[in-house]
Amino acid sequence: MPASSIQSYFSSSSPTKSCPGDGFTSEELQAPSPTPEWMPVLDYEESDIASLEAGPRYLTIMGRIVNVYHTPKPSKQPKSAQGFFKLMVADDTGVMTVRLWYAKSLYALKLGQLVTLWTVHISQGDGQVGLAPNAAPIFTSIFPENERNCHFMIHERSDDGTLCRRPFGAKDNQVLPGLMTLRNFTDGGFDVDDFTNKNGNTSESVYVVVLDDTSEGFLTLYGSVSGSASAWIPYQTALLIANPGWRIDRSAKLSLNANTQLYIDPALAEARYLRALTQRLIKREHVNPNFPHDVFDAKEAEGAAIKILYKLSDIDEFVRTNPKEKAVGYMSIILTQLNIVVNYKREMLMSNECCGKPIFASKVVARCRQCDRECTLRINPRILGDVIDETGTISTGKLIFSDAAWEQLLGRTAEQLVSASLEVMKYLEQRLLFLRLTLGFGIHLGNEEIGRLVVWCVKM
Ligand SMILES: [Zn+2]
Repeated sequence: MPASSIQSYFSSSSPTKSCPGDGFTSEELQAPSPTPEWMPVLDYEESDIASLEAGPRYLTIMGRIVNVYHTPKPSKQPKSAQGFFKLMVADDTGVMTVRLWYAKSLYALKLGQLVTLWTVHISQGDGQVGLAPNAAPIFTSIFPENERNCHFMIHERSDDGTLCRRPFGAKDNQVLPGLMTLRNFTDGGFDVDDFTNKNGNTSESVYVVVLDDTSEGFLTLYGSVSGSASAWIPYQTALLIANPGWRIDRSAKLSLNANTQLYIDPALAEARYLRALTQRLIKREHVNPNFPHDVFDAKEAEGAAIKILYKLSDIDEFVRTNPKEKAVGYMSIILTQLNIVVNYKREMLMSNECCGKPIFASKVVARCRQCDRECTLRINPRILGDVIDETGTISTGKLIFSDAAWEQLLGRTAEQLVSASLEVMKYLEQRLLFLRLTLGFGIHLGNEEIGRLVVWCVKM
């Protein structure tokens, strides 16, 4: 048998090409089972997980994936399983282990997916992690491609996110038993088995920063489960982690082990509270918001037929009376103070935010201390003090300059600014102080994020 024939099932390019005499029937090649068209021929009984009992029975069970571990077991036998996924599946009543064997189908499994399985046997594990972990000793083992009465389905379109989202039968009026804050956890409130990271697991991993109202921690996802994090939204996705793997040094370092259950956006009062909390946290003003190029087009503003010069009081009145309208025009102002030298000395000429944390440096690129990613920094708006005209004041740091406007104001790019000498900084301050400037501005209150005045050009 040519060795390439098995490989062909794992590459999407030629899954249905058959070589004559490779040992497979054309039917086997054409029908990668399980297919969505699978129809149960037996009478299956729907069961919630808490009611499962060991023994043979035709059952259909629905739940969400709360843990998944891929164990490849390559076999040269074409009909043999090539491995299995060890899943933990939870509904509102309990959690079970599912050993899902596969030959040709590679299931695209992710944490949080709603799944239904049809099985003919339920087993009771003995608490040995091998078959089923302590946390979910009830298990079933299915091989849908070889067992016509077993089937596994991932609900992709039919999942409206309402089913199986109240783990452990949670009630809104009572705190989930055993639920603790990250701080309590870090301080020793945990009672779980030791987690040892298996050496040799060199597969990809994803590092997620998690926080609650008491502390911050890290969650690391290894291997096949790491892709699950891509759908999570920072400051929105709530995770309930039961029996996490952990390591405590300065903060909690959590991970998934065989007993861990990870519930994504569970329907719990605590999850809603956390989401509200993080929304309040990120409402805090960004230290250096990006110029909203999608709202204000500098080229279009520059080319406008009517150019209006506004007083600061006019702008204020305009946005109060027309909160939904967008205003674009010019203002003639004076810079009453400059903080270039002081920010140069503090190494804070540039700033941005990552992971919800401000980053200041006198560099164009700096690493986030939280996630270690490189972030592009922009000129710190606080190098300008109060900006005034005859009718009003804009306090320091409140104007959002585009990169082009900064360059026009300072006569140099951000790179040139951060590499300039102290003499140049002093000269810049002297040159700009009390100078009358015309700023091309825009304002739009429609979205709070851009409720601040933006500056798209500076004319000396
Ligand atoms: Zn970061």
